[in-house]
Amino acid sequence: MRPHVIVNVAMSADGKLSTRERRQVVISGVQDFNRVDRLKAGSDAVMVGIGTVLADDPSLTVKAEECRNNRIRRGTNEQPIRIVVDSMARIPPNASVLQKGTGQRIVAVSKQADAEKVAQLRKLATVIEAGADRVDLESLMDELGEMGIQRVLVEGGGTLIAGLIAAGLIDEIYTFIGNIVIGGKDAPTLADGEGFSLESEFCRLTLIEVHKLEQGVLLHWAVDHST
Ligand code: NAP
Repeated sequence: MRPHVIVNVAMSADGKLSTRERRQVVISGVQDFNRVDRLKAGSDAVMVGIGTVLADDPSLTVKAEECRNNRIRRGTNEQPIRIVVDSMARIPPNASVLQKGTGQRIVAVSKQADAEKVAQLRKLATVIEAGADRVDLESLMDELGEMGIQRVLVEGGGTLIAGLIAAGLIDEIYTFIGNIVIGGKDAPTLADGEGFSLESEFCRLTLIEVHKLEQGVLLHWAVDHST
């Protein structure tokens, strides 16, 4: 069975995830940071696209000791499995996600990835090959499900999220909307990619909760799979 997939992003008041140069921006505060840390700790795996790894170099680790200890008490590794979607195996071997913290890493590549790069990557991570020239996200999710991964938190970026939406693979979305305007028509948003033209292609959402948090607002949506 495919995993339950939750997206979490922080966006500016005008819906941007970072600057047009793809420079990371602090959008939320400590309370939201702790909320996301708990969300991560409650997931079997945390996933990002290679664009986010190259732009931000995140470790995707759970930071709070209490959350890590809770995971150990539940009989899992202190860190969720960390997954990077990276068709061409571009991830640098010294990327924080491969180097920091304990636990399994998975890099999903396509058949187009250079064999030598993939061989090197296998020393640092489990490599899943899915898709001819781009990672086939449906096959990837099937394979993650077969590995026993039931709950995946996707932390961006907008290109990967757009691909997951297009494939109908997302179940819930959390968006924290912060009190800044970043601007720029080329700045990343929640769902970049090509966009949808037809109403029948739009991703329909049901609002679960609205919560004022620090100087922003947290929206929790369920994806409507019935249409
Ligand atoms: P991204 O979504 O992290 O990664 C996109 C890449 O994933 C694609 O270019 C593609 O590269 C790979 N990919 C492989 N198969 C795919 C598929 N089937 N569908 C979609 N993507 C696929 O990159 P991004 O859109 O450039 O986002 C990075 C920006 O978002 C940065 O500026 C970062 O700071 C920002 N960000 C913000 C937040 C936030 O919460 N505010 C969170 C995360 C990121 P290959 O074809 O080479 O594999």
